[in-house]
Amino acid sequence: MRVNFPWATHKFEERGWRARLHIIPRAYCGFMVDVLTPEQRRENMSRIRSANTKPEMVVRRMLHARGYRYRLHVRDLPGSPDLVFPRRRKVVFVNGCFWHVHSCRFGQVVPATNSAFWEKKRLATVSRDERKTAELSALGWDVMTVWECEIRDLDMVERRLVSFLGQ
Ligand SMILES: [Zn+2]
Repeated sequence: MRVNFPWATHKFEERGWRARLHIIPRAYCGFMVDVLTPEQRRENMSRIRSANTKPEMVVRRMLHARGYRYRLHVRDLPGSPDLVFPRRRKVVFVNGCFWHVHSCRFGQVVPATNSAFWEKKRLATVSRDERKTAELSALGWDVMTVWECEIRDLDMVERRLVSFLGQ
């Protein structure tokens, strides 16, 4: 399956990320320092946080086309999972790499401005994720996370989801 993901190039190109990415010096630990002003970072973050993010839509469309049916953002479950499969007792989160501190390069970015502020927020997100996953497991739900960066290889995501959900 071939999918375009215009949001990815869009988001970065808007900010000149593409052009800048390769000239950003790599700090120690291999972390990447970003170049957004506090204002841009705030705006960027608020967009990244929205519930119906594009990667989530891609995952939803793909699963729907394969015949899976699910409920969305079920608020009475811990963490309001993005996709809920009640009969299978499984939930899927589609997580942004920056916010949820994925191990990929997008998740390991350290904002140059207000870094302590973002670090605190992101670490809080990570510990909330861990807590909610534990709560879901305790209630008998299986949890899978799809990362934003994985959407580039949708066939792989599809295979992982199908094996997680069952046919
Ligand atoms: Zn990632």
